[in-house]
Amino acid sequence: TTSLNVKAIRKLFPILQPSANSQPLVYLDNAATTQKPLTVIQAINDYYQNSNANVHRASHQLSTKATLGFEKARQTVQQFINASTSAEVIWTRGATEAINLVAYSYGYHFIKAGDEILITSLEHHANIVPWQQLAKAKGAKLKVVSINEAGELNKQDFSKKLSKKTKLVCLSHISNAIGTINPIHQLIQEAHDAGALVLVDAAQSAAHTKLDVQTLSCDFLVFSGHKLYGPTGIGVLYAKRALLDMMPPWQMGGEMIEQVTLEDTRFNCVPFKFEAGTPNIAGAFGLASAIEFINQLDLNQVKQHEIALASYAESLIQHLPGIRFYSKANDRIGIISFLIKGHHPQDIGLLLDQKGIAVRVGHHCAMPLMQHLNINGTIRASFAVYNTTQEVEQFANALADICQPATMVPTHIELASSEQ
Ligand code: PMP
Repeated sequence: TTSLNVKAIRKLFPILQPSANSQPLVYLDNAATTQKPLTVIQAINDYYQNSNANVHRASHQLSTKATLGFEKARQTVQQFINASTSAEVIWTRGATEAINLVAYSYGYHFIKAGDEILITSLEHHANIVPWQQLAKAKGAKLKVVSINEAGELNKQDFSKKLSKKTKLVCLSHISNAIGTINPIHQLIQEAHDAGALVLVDAAQSAAHTKLDVQTLSCDFLVFSGHKLYGPTGIGVLYAKRALLDMMPPWQMGGEMIEQVTLEDTRFNCVPFKFEAGTPNIAGAFGLASAIEFINQLDLNQVKQHEIALASYAESLIQHLPGIRFYSKANDRIGIISFLIKGHHPQDIGLLLDQKGIAVRVGHHCAMPLMQHLNINGTIRASFAVYNTTQEVEQFANALADICQPATMVPTHIELASSEQ
């Protein structure tokens, strides 16, 4: 029951098209990276074919063309997240590099001994390790907000651990491992009331929910292009202008300077101050194209579609003997994360793969979360706009075949006759 035209959307993705000599791909590893529509692949190709030149420097027309496209892509990102100026959009390699930029620039400059940094039990390693290492280097303290049985943040613990010493709260919007959606509006406000800055890891949100940095009022927000139908190697740091102005650059070289003598350097203005070296120009063109793709969709519908697929998958496999779900938050994205007693997740991943079904197994770069749950990892199926109910049924049937003797397959269900 969705008004999304999934069949038409699916046709836009070359990798998902049936081919004569291989089984169709059932791609359920979208939280790791999404597939790319042809328009994105063409935008990258078109850049190299028709606009390739270095940006911001040469006097020739091709460079002007590349620079205009590159800066237009920045504006596309600005509008996508509703930043007040494109100077607040810094290109990075991805969410990881964006978090490192904040840790190295803001963190190493402004965090002092005795300060506290607050993270949560749900974080991806990218939003743990930079803060842990910064805290060690500075003699600051890393505090961790706990979660409840359902994998939801414990709000009392959040309030309790927030103090006058808290300088920075680094918080995922959505958990990549178990799908929990955190109530970030409320948490940002509370952190601000306590005088802390807030970094939002939106790596798992950008393709599923509307982001508005002005409404959120977050200080920093990061995401990766490849998780929202764009290319790898490009991502974004959003930060409030006033913060960017006071933060020192973290990588030095060309592009980020205004004037250099052998004695000293005057740095360029933001955003260029944070973009040393030749950037991923084609990546920016590709990401802008991915955002144009997303802008044609109603993200609310997309999210509902993905959640419906996840619930359907859950309903089909919940009777498998020994199954246990870890994606249990009330408010969650289209992800199911589970284990089946007696079956190693790695084996299940391999056997599903043999049937053309791609899922992710393991710790999902969230080892502390796995430690908290007292497991080594899970099997995760994560859904995107192009996934269909038929794919969910294939997944469920394959899982039933793997987990149950062939003689007893009561969980087997008929494939929907009409493809979505
Ligand atoms: N944070 C979260 C919540 C993620 O899911 C990921 C990617 N799995 C990252 C950060 C890191 O993103 P990237 O590897 O693209 O830098």
